[in-house]
Order: sequence, then C-alpha cells, then structure tokens
Amino acid sequence: MISLRVPLKTQVSKQDKARVKKLSAAYGLYVSETFLRETPYCDENGVFRGTLYPMLPWEDIDTVLLDMDGTLLDLHFDNHFWREHIPRRYAEIHGVDLDDARQDLYARMTRIEGTMDWYCLDYWSRELGLDVAVLKEEVDHLIAVHPFVPEFLDGLKAAGKRRVLVTNAHTRSLALKMERTDLAGRLDAVICAHDLGLPKEDVGFWERLQTREPFDPARSLLVDDNLDILRSARGYGIAHLLGVYQPDSQAAPRDGAEFEVVRSFCDLLPSFPGLFA
Ligand SMILES: [Mg+2]
Repeated sequence: MISLRVPLKTQVSKQDKARVKKLSAAYGLYVSETFLRETPYCDENGVFRGTLYPMLPWEDIDTVLLDMDGTLLDLHFDNHFWREHIPRRYAEIHGVDLDDARQDLYARMTRIEGTMDWYCLDYWSRELGLDVAVLKEEVDHLIAVHPFVPEFLDGLKAAGKRRVLVTNAHTRSLALKMERTDLAGRLDAVICAHDLGLPKEDVGFWERLQTREPFDPARSLLVDDNLDILRSARGYGIAHLLGVYQPDSQAAPRDGAEFEVVRSFCDLLPSFPGLFA
C-alpha cells in the first residue's frame, strides 16, 4: 500500500483528487475511481490511506485471458451451489441426514480439488447419483456478472485487445452461464479446459492453449481469482497477472499479497489511454 499525504478532511475535494491523481501519475500509479469515490480515510497523522494500483501497461498487452467463475461472474452462485444446494438435494434424494451428506461431500471434494474431475459435472453426476447440471438450473437465478464487466469487455474491444475466456468449468456449466448472462457476445473466443484435457492449474494447460488460441505470453494479461492458476500462468511466462479481490460478493475478500488484485473492473476502465479520460 502506498500513502500520499493530503489534508485531513472528511470529504475529498476536487483539488485533492486532482493532486492525488497528479502524484500517482508521477509515481506511475493509477488511482482507482472506486478509491476516489469511497469515503476517504486518514490515519491519526493525517496521511490519506488507500490502495493505489499500478497502471496496466496496455500498450504492451494484446491478449486478455479472462477466467469466468469468481472473475467475470460472482462466485456466490458456485459457492452456494456446492456448499448448500448440492448437500441439501443429495440428502433429500438419497434420504440421508444433511450433516452426514455435507461431511461426505466435503471429503470427496477435498480429495480431488484442482483436478479435471473436480470441475466435471459428469464425474459428480456419476459419483453422487444426481443430475448435477439439472440441479444447477434450480438455483440459476443466482448467476450474476460482477459490476462493470460488460463495460470492461467493451472497453477492451474498443482498445483493440483480444478477449479470451479460459475456464475450467464444464461445458454444460459454461453453456448455462453464457445463456443466463450477456457475456458471450463480448468475447472473441471461449476456451474450455475440458477440451484441452488439462486444468489451468497445470502449467501444461497454457502450452495446449496455444494450439487453440495462439498468444504471446509476454504480451498477455490473465485475470483469475485462483492463486494456483495465477502461479501456473506465471510459471508459463504470462507477463501480466491480476487476481480478484472479492470473487464471491457474499464472502470476505481474499488476501491479495502475492498478486495485484482487481477490486472492481471499474478500476481498470480509465487506464485505457484516452478512452475513458
Ligand atoms: Mg475462477
């Protein structure tokens, strides 16, 4: 976190905003619009504190690889589905105690977390004796796009960047989400890890992605809410990496110490040179 000293006030004046912007530009930092809109907070020494984001060097980025669940979409749907809905429906359909169902399911999930099976609806349907894809539709009203995602995707297009969705989600889960949102028309390509046979957590995924969607790792940005995936992308050499501050709008924010994080896609908008100025 970087702090800039400005007068202790309860509201940030236009002049203060301009000064913070000028100073941050001098340091090559970007002051998020969210930050400027939030009630400012000053410490006991009158130091204005807030997070300043490094400006993304858009001139060095051609391809933007975007994760779906927890990044473009609110992870609340998936968390609710796997933690609440599935255990409840499993208990109802198989006539077992809800707590037992929960424990059983959590143990099974933990065993295969991060593997291709973990993301595979066919695997879970077989394993649990349930039609998982149909159960998803029962709570599909919870599928939601994170704020400012459409504007961000439109901004990328206007700036001439290639927008590629790369997801571990199962094809049927992906189809349901594309159906329930307006994202599909805002993406240049949609890549499903199941079609490549490796999850994004595996560094080999990125090499296989080249066969479907050739990209220059040195000129690509990945935004993903999963730390293991950001690490595998870093291992492959993807130069620009951003995590997500709050993948699930109903849960606590994540610790973003290892990677820079997106608090709101609104924050990325004004950093397109000249586009949103
Ligand atoms: Mg994700």
